[in-house]
Amino acid sequence: MNESDPHDHQLRVSKIRNGTVIDHVAGGQALNVLAILGIDGAGGESVSIGMNVPSDRLGKKDIVKVEDRELSQSEVDVLSLIAPEATINIVREFEVVDKLRVERPERVVGVLSCPNRNCISNANEPVDSKFDVVDDGVRCVYCGAIVREDIADHLSVA
Ligand SMILES: [Zn+2]
Repeated sequence: MNESDPHDHQLRVSKIRNGTVIDHVAGGQALNVLAILGIDGAGGESVSIGMNVPSDRLGKKDIVKVEDRELSQSEVDVLSLIAPEATINIVREFEVVDKLRVERPERVVGVLSCPNRNCISNANEPVDSKFDVVDDGVRCVYCGAIVREDIADHLSVA
């Protein structure tokens, strides 16, 4: 590890053996992070959460550690909708082996449900929800409905 790495302080939270550490989540968003990743405990994952931990960058932040699961880049990209500042560390045998950047995807499929009840994505047809990511939120590809700050309320993942 490079001594001058400005991210050294993040590594101290990585005390899990194998898995993913999601750091710099905005304070209070940890449970939404779990929801967007489809983690509800039913999968048997061991999850630890730090909420409203003091942070230089964010004031207060949440930290989520998921053991024995490595997030994919596409999962991480969806996280950007609710945790744009997040840093993701993949841990193996207590060492950070990879850092993923959170980037806003151009489109999210099957993750959010449309607020418009009459939208075809809410009909009983096998149509995946599709939202384009726009500057101020996400926009339904089918009906144009826009979801802004309450994105986490529209998660369709279990
Ligand atoms: Zn729609």
